[in-house]
Amino acid sequence: MIAGHFGFAAIVKSREKTAPLWALMLATVWLDVIFTPLFVAHLETVQPISPHAGYGGLIIHADYTHSIVGMVALSAALGAMFLPRLGRRVAIVIALVSASHWVLDLVFHRADMPVLPGNFGNLPRLGFGLWNYPRAAGCVELALVIVGAALYWRAAMEVSAKASRNGRLASLSAAMIAAFGLLVLFLDYTS
Ligand SMILES: [Zn+2]
Repeated sequence: MIAGHFGFAAIVKSREKTAPLWALMLATVWLDVIFTPLFVAHLETVQPISPHAGYGGLIIHADYTHSIVGMVALSAALGAMFLPRLGRRVAIVIALVSASHWVLDLVFHRADMPVLPGNFGNLPRLGFGLWNYPRAAGCVELALVIVGAALYWRAAMEVSAKASRNGRLASLSAAMIAAFGLLVLFLDYTS
């Protein structure tokens, strides 16, 4: 579930034009970025549901980065990092986009996301488990990528029309977002 997050970044970019696309893309996968070193250090782990599990066939023990408290803390920290450079409004947008990662993951993950870091107190884990239906999950991700690229393209065309430049750059960057999203989705789905 990476392509879907990037699709969402493009959707936000089309509404929030002053926020840099790269910062939004970073924000959408920020929890997974922090997950990576914790995964390497075996503090967070993944467990295939079966030996031949494909796309979405994982229980993800991201008990710090993907706990509710961890998500709030990491999102706030990311927003704070961008605050001096991009100002308050964009910093808040970036923090919210980072939090949106968790909301999207909530739909896709099996019930593996804890409330408190380290699943302290053994509270019920959260996740609606769309990954139990890989085709449906793939379609939702695909839709996010396509809608994201389309909205981004439209927004970029408006901007370039105002600046009386041609829309070639806008089309090109939207096509790149779509191609990149589709590639990531393809790799996810076929691995
Ligand atoms: Zn995630």
